[in-house]
Amino acid sequence: MATTCDLLLTNAHILTLDESFTSFASGAVAVENGRILEVGNIAGTYTARETIDCGGRVVMPGLVNAHTHAPMTLLRGLADDLRLDVWLLGYMMPVEREFVRPEFVALGTKLACAEMIRSGTTCFADMYYFEDAVAQAAADAGVRALCGQTVLKFPSPDAASYDDSLALARRFIEKWKGHPLIVPAPAPHAPYTCTVEILRACAEMAAEFDVPLHTHLAETTFEVDQSRQEHGMPVIPWVKKHRLFDARVLAAHCVHVDDGEMRALEAAGAGVAHNPTSNLKLGSGIAPAARMLELGVAVGIGTDGCASNNDLDMFEEMRLAALLAKGVSGNPTAIPAKQALAMSTRIGARALHIGALTGSLEAGKRADLIVLQLDQAHSWPPFERDPDAVYSRIVYSAKAGDVVDVMCDGRWLMRDRQLLTLDEGELQRAAADVARRIDRFLIQREQSVLQKLIAIGGATEQESFEVQVKARVASADTVHGALTSDDITVIRGVHYHQYDTYFFFDDPEQGRLRYREDEFLDDGEKVVNARARLTLTGPSREAAFGSVLLFRSRFLAPASHTPRFYREYFRPAREREVEKDRRRWLVAYRGAQFYVHLDRLINPAVDGYFVEVKSRTWSRRDARDKAAIIADLLQRLGANPNETVEADYVDL
Ligand SMILES: [Zn+2]
Repeated sequence: MATTCDLLLTNAHILTLDESFTSFASGAVAVENGRILEVGNIAGTYTARETIDCGGRVVMPGLVNAHTHAPMTLLRGLADDLRLDVWLLGYMMPVEREFVRPEFVALGTKLACAEMIRSGTTCFADMYYFEDAVAQAAADAGVRALCGQTVLKFPSPDAASYDDSLALARRFIEKWKGHPLIVPAPAPHAPYTCTVEILRACAEMAAEFDVPLHTHLAETTFEVDQSRQEHGMPVIPWVKKHRLFDARVLAAHCVHVDDGEMRALEAAGAGVAHNPTSNLKLGSGIAPAARMLELGVAVGIGTDGCASNNDLDMFEEMRLAALLAKGVSGNPTAIPAKQALAMSTRIGARALHIGALTGSLEAGKRADLIVLQLDQAHSWPPFERDPDAVYSRIVYSAKAGDVVDVMCDGRWLMRDRQLLTLDEGELQRAAADVARRIDRFLIQREQSVLQKLIAIGGATEQESFEVQVKARVASADTVHGALTSDDITVIRGVHYHQYDTYFFFDDPEQGRLRYREDEFLDDGEKVVNARARLTLTGPSREAAFGSVLLFRSRFLAPASHTPRFYREYFRPAREREVEKDRRRWLVAYRGAQFYVHLDRLINPAVDGYFVEVKSRTWSRRDARDKAAIIADLLQRLGANPNETVEADYVDL
């Protein structure tokens, strides 16, 4: 007697993608209660409430995107072809700080789901802020997701501190644990953006709730070098030492790992998400995916977020994974099409630690499947001699647009290329609106060097006023001599080597930005200490008292990035370098304090010495009074007040 079921897909070219790659040239899939009952030559053994004739098309498991940041669809194409630090610190993070709210996250995820469903993805591993909104949007769209709530050591759009961040992750997991589509997880962003305590707390939380843990590991050589420097070991042993692998880890990237580290990943049962496009686009490198697979690591394929890809197309991604493995190894048998497709389905699900639920068409698993049309010009003709030829057609020739129908958890999400759970037109209108607002924000910011400085957290000290003068002196001796006289008291003195890089902008009103490195020298002229500072100087002097000038608007900040970062971020119209030897004294003279600088210019090479006298000031009257003393002091130091030079030597 025939068994009943909800749905029977018949006349299908079935690729189960199970361990032995079982396939049926013309088979059927029986679905009951969102679960796969049976797969094979079973059409006659079931009576179904609904039967669909697949017309010989391919039926296979839905694709598993092993790593993404779904809401970042809203940042797609916002800033490209930039170095990782400029891209992340200069654009992504400031925009995220300003715009990322639950509504933004929900909209971005829905847009992502529309794109994913269209391209045959039924399951994705996510990591973002306000992950609750990601989970809700994915569940509403009917897409399966491993949702990682981001935990960071610094304030983020959804948490003021890492304690808040951990508490948020806990509440998130409590809320979603047991949901039919959503698997919640803590997501410590990366070892370099977390503390050891955060990594441990997240691993413990994952173990406590028996959920996976999603993170980024060993993405760049910079990260690995830094780990070696700071911890004396690369990333994988470092996180292992701190017991991250007590949890079932899904590690994105693992681009820079050696054999020993790969074995450690395998031994820990960690899954890896290989993100070939993102790693290429950000210049991070190429992960040793073939070697990891060889060593038994579950390596899935991910798109990463749309800001670094820029799409969520798993067809492109698996083709690239298969091609790159061949290109870097010189071995065309590395990652064959069949294996690439398995990485995008069964192995991917295993990497997410949900292999029992999805990833292949097998009795007992959830009904996550797609129907593919392989009769387009670009995937024609079919060959039947080799049963594996169909995998080549899918991986090397098929396109995302060849996906006709998509089912997740037994529910149709797309039929005949029509989305059933999302209104694409509405989503696109709303996303265009967000893009307009982000554009406005960035246009405004880009007009002001100060705003750009603030956006990267680069202006810690506010505007100040300063009176100063700078002039040539015949010899250093007159200065040293004057400083030993009775009426000038030297409070302290330092000696350093100073390297300045000035950035000039087309609009002089923007002022100029100075990147200054000070190397402090001891009596033996040896470097004992160094620091770097960034100063935004106002466009012009405020006033002149004889040769003494009043300046304002100096925004000071420790320079935590390289000059290269600032150059690529601020894009100055012009640059100028100045290098000098400077002796600096704080002196008391006629009832006020002044800084005296004795400079010898090295670049540009200028003969002789310069002396500068300056003081902070807070009112015009104070400025005038100090200007008079400065003019006097300048003469005492042996300089001619009529032979002054421009403040920063940049015109010499
Ligand atoms: Zn990522």
